[in-house]
Amino acid sequence: MSATPRTIAFIGLGIMGSPMAANLVKAGHTVTGFNLEQSAIDALVAAGGKGATSIADAVAGADVIITMVPADPHVEQVILGEGGVLENAKAGSLVIDMSSITPQTSIKVAAAAAEKGIRTLDAPVSGGEAGAIEAVLSIMVGGEAADFAEAKPLFDALGTTVIHVGPAGAGQTVKAANQLIVAVNIQVVAEAVVFLENAGVDLGAALDVLAGGLAGSTVLNRKKANMVNREFAPGFRIDLHHKDMGIVTAAARAVEAPLPVGSLVAQLVASARANGDGSLDHSALLRGVERLAGRTVK
Ligand code: NAD
Repeated sequence: MSATPRTIAFIGLGIMGSPMAANLVKAGHTVTGFNLEQSAIDALVAAGGKGATSIADAVAGADVIITMVPADPHVEQVILGEGGVLENAKAGSLVIDMSSITPQTSIKVAAAAAEKGIRTLDAPVSGGEAGAIEAVLSIMVGGEAADFAEAKPLFDALGTTVIHVGPAGAGQTVKAANQLIVAVNIQVVAEAVVFLENAGVDLGAALDVLAGGLAGSTVLNRKKANMVNREFAPGFRIDLHHKDMGIVTAAARAVEAPLPVGSLVAQLVASARANGDGSLDHSALLRGVERLAGRTVK
């Protein structure tokens, strides 16, 4: 309990938001949560937080407002929409959007907030559900340096790698690069899995030794068990990674950066969705490789 206690509204208590809000409670802050499903609000209350009946109710009296919702339309609705954050937040408050969205929407939100004397940061995260639960997320932050400094103690309650990467929107640009690297990494791990199985090598032993060498990665460590056991409960849904591949391919195109491998993997993520795997964890890209290999996908 090192940080000065803050009064925080937390909107979006899903796979990521729930454990993040609970970690802010643990760090000594007053956290009032709002979410579309009541069960997640009840869980926050059980963890020592408070429950709200609307965005307006959550935001009343808050000096920091955190949003963690799926995609651009949800951020627009929650922050800019009728009955949303900007209609209800007090001047001088700090809005921190931790969702993964396009840099343009973060910049639009920052401009709309500034007109009302409200400060914003875009602060998307990496590390997955496990990283959120263990409070070891990487947090990439765009916005003013002074606002970052103010929010740093809150970020430190959620993650271990917390870096200010530039002005409004810059956090989202870095997150887009993150999603590119993660998707390509998962895809090649999945290809290695099918290759190793077809070759008749013990998969668990093979992945253990690969994890200790140059082929090792956080993706391999965190997703190995999912692949070996074909356990694809999310985690991070393929639907959301599809959204992120759309963000990174558009953002890279805008700055004339070629993504030949990333574009191909974006197609494979889209194909996974088209095959009905959108609600599975992104480690289920393995199922797409199995289809390509002519295997029966269980
Ligand atoms: P999720 O679908 O589990 O949770 C989103 C939550 O937002 C839901 O509980 C929903 O009720 C709430 N919500 C949506 N609209 C709302 C509204 N109008 N008012 C109140 N609540 C609303 O999603 P998630 O997996 O927690 O991901 C959230 C964001 O974090 C996404 O942008 C995702 O890309 C990003 N992200 C996810 C992971 C992961 O591993 N799951 C990792 C890093 C980043």
